[in-house]
Amino acid sequence: MVTSFAESTKTSYLLDSMMLSSPLIVGAGPTGLAAATFLAQHEIIPRIVDKRSERSKFSKALAVNPRSLELLEPTGVTDQLMALGRKLTGATIHRNDRIIGEVDFENLEHRFPFMLALSQATTERVLAEHLAEKGIEIESQIELVDSPQLGEGKAQLVHVETQANESVEAPWILAADGSHSVARKSVHVSFPGETYDRAWVLDDIPLATDLASDRAHIKWLDDGFLFLLPVFTGDEKPGEPTLWRVMGNYPDPVAHLGNSNPIGDSHWNSSFHIAHRLVEKMQVGQVYFAGDAAHLHSPLGARGMNLGIEDAWVFAELAKRDELKLYHKQRWPVDNAVVQRVRTVTGFAKGESWLKRTFRNLMGPKLLRWSKVRNQMMRTVTGLDHPLAMLHSSEQAAEENQPRRRSRNKETA
Ligand SMILES: Cc1cc2nc3c(=O)[nH]c(=O)nc-3n(C[C@H](O)[C@H](O)[C@H](O)COP(=O)(O)OP(=O)(O)OC[C@H]3O[C@@H](n4cnc5c(N)ncnc54)[C@H](O)[C@@H]3O)c2cc1C
Repeated sequence: MVTSFAESTKTSYLLDSMMLSSPLIVGAGPTGLAAATFLAQHEIIPRIVDKRSERSKFSKALAVNPRSLELLEPTGVTDQLMALGRKLTGATIHRNDRIIGEVDFENLEHRFPFMLALSQATTERVLAEHLAEKGIEIESQIELVDSPQLGEGKAQLVHVETQANESVEAPWILAADGSHSVARKSVHVSFPGETYDRAWVLDDIPLATDLASDRAHIKWLDDGFLFLLPVFTGDEKPGEPTLWRVMGNYPDPVAHLGNSNPIGDSHWNSSFHIAHRLVEKMQVGQVYFAGDAAHLHSPLGARGMNLGIEDAWVFAELAKRDELKLYHKQRWPVDNAVVQRVRTVTGFAKGESWLKRTFRNLMGPKLLRWSKVRNQMMRTVTGLDHPLAMLHSSEQAAEENQPRRRSRNKETA
């Protein structure tokens, strides 16, 4: 039986003086929420804290990939996400207003041959509600502050409202506290990589457009690029115009839309600097890094949130097997390969110098005719660019026991 979070927390406080308290997740973004979800499935009940008073309302990541859907399926969360989101069938690459390439997710040999368009805010809400049903409540307004002994599992927390301090000692701490991770700084782990000078800008805005709303669109323009994707929250009303994410490396990407036109106010406008970074170590003593606390890359790969969900799944599997010592070895090479791949694709797509743009505009259409290139792009975006050792070995084991059952997921990557 799963104990309610309030009960387990109370119990853990009582036990504090005698023994270690519950495992601790710092950060209730998608990574921390997914980790708590996967752990609860194995009856490991963590404490999960977040410094915010309420969940972020920003749409941020707009698509849940097939790998995340597959990992979340046994928890029941995938069905809930599917009821709210819309299927994206592929991506179309345009050179100005001419189509020069298409990637079709339907070609995937996978149980979920599509990306699920759904705003990150909705995905987080569904995960948080799922946890609440399991009796796990997120403790909001509790902030991890600089903790010199974090590597030994000793965290310093501050209750934001009252400024009360709390010291906890946990058997392990999952640092899912985002790109500016205090946990990372506390244990002095470096976060090497680079940040682009030029800001990218996004606008979530209703558009009148001929662009298919079941696809992502990348437009290579003469002096930059645009990325367009429909934004779905699950709250759409019939007849409402589709909201689009318009993102690009221009100060005002909406001004470069060409044949599409805004038909309402912007719902969210933001400017940000793209970084490609990866922690040097995914584990220091009792602290493990996951999600944006461990890796950053451009949103063009559609992997940020999804890679964090995969980190969370691997972490929970290893915790269940009491093999957390393997976490760095299993995750770092995968996360490194993804960050490097997305970095290369982004460098090619953004075309920020005359020479790079000329190369992109000349070579891009030729490369996109090559099915191997399209296949690699598809696998990168969908998260199916690497096998997941524990997932696929357990599937193989299940198949060996039931030789007549067909594989649901034949990955060839
Ligand atoms: C504009 C934009 C577009 C994006 N598009 C995509 C996309 O298309 N596809 C995709 O997969 N990803 C995308 N991403 C990336 C995605 O949003 C992130 O990768 C994702 O949010 C990472 O989740 P996380 O849980 O690791 O970190 P976060 O979402 O940053 O969550 C960290 C949580 O930790 C809490 N926290 C931080 N510090 C502390 C502390 N000291 N103590 C307690 N709590 C703390 C924060 O309040 C927060 O709730 C996009 C991001 C942005 C900004």
